[in-house]
Amino acid sequence: MSDPVRLTVVGSGNASNAAGRGHSCYWLEGVLPDAGLMVDFGGTALAGIKSLGLDPQRLGVLAFTHLHGDHIGGYPFLVIDALYDRGRTTPLQVVGPVGVEERLESLLRVCYGSLAEKERPFRLSYHELSPGNAFALPGGGSIQASAADHQDPPEVPLCLRITAANGSAIAFSGDTRFCDGLFEAARGTRLLVAECSALEPPCGRHCSWLEWREQAASLDCPRILLTHLGEEVRARIPELLGEGLAGLEVEFADDGRTLEVR
Ligand SMILES: [Zn+2]
Repeated sequence: MSDPVRLTVVGSGNASNAAGRGHSCYWLEGVLPDAGLMVDFGGTALAGIKSLGLDPQRLGVLAFTHLHGDHIGGYPFLVIDALYDRGRTTPLQVVGPVGVEERLESLLRVCYGSLAEKERPFRLSYHELSPGNAFALPGGGSIQASAADHQDPPEVPLCLRITAANGSAIAFSGDTRFCDGLFEAARGTRLLVAECSALEPPCGRHCSWLEWREQAASLDCPRILLTHLGEEVRARIPELLGEGLAGLEVEFADDGRTLEVR
């Protein structure tokens, strides 16, 4: 049997770091040959991966679901670390929604001025993904995008499905309210990493526990890891696990937690 994909929750909190958790982001092993892949990189991400003993030098692909600060805010620190602390020479591929390069390069300029123009001793490449398109990963896997419902145009937030060369697939909701793209991303995967920002609506363009109770049966996926948790969701986890979601194996994310997916 092929090696499992191993997912580490680097951060499981929302934008306001509810309950002291890091911004929602994930490290995957077993998708790229000899390198890690991350989904999102908020302000707390670099501290998160280092506190878990993960090496940012080993990050080969960084995929963004959308361009909100709690999903991209740590990017300048990753570049600083690569340039000054690690002397990175290995390439880093950044994949994200339309406008990803412009947004991240302006973030670098805002945070560190001329650093954005400094020559980089490693190859940094940006790749835009639109809903319906896929990015081919080194080693034979892929990142497939579908439309999330979280921001207004010109922003094009994404749900992502990440498939390893052995066929194991994990979907990431990013931030979204319930929409077709979310179900499309999850279809046929082994695990959906999905946001659950609140107990019930209204919660803006996010998902709530009450809605998951209604929608779970429509999901073509056996297992769900709920994340991006608001304070009141985190406080009631034991009770919510007791309620469960029809037909699904339910887990709640916490910083540092790891899961294996075959
Ligand atoms: Zn967001």
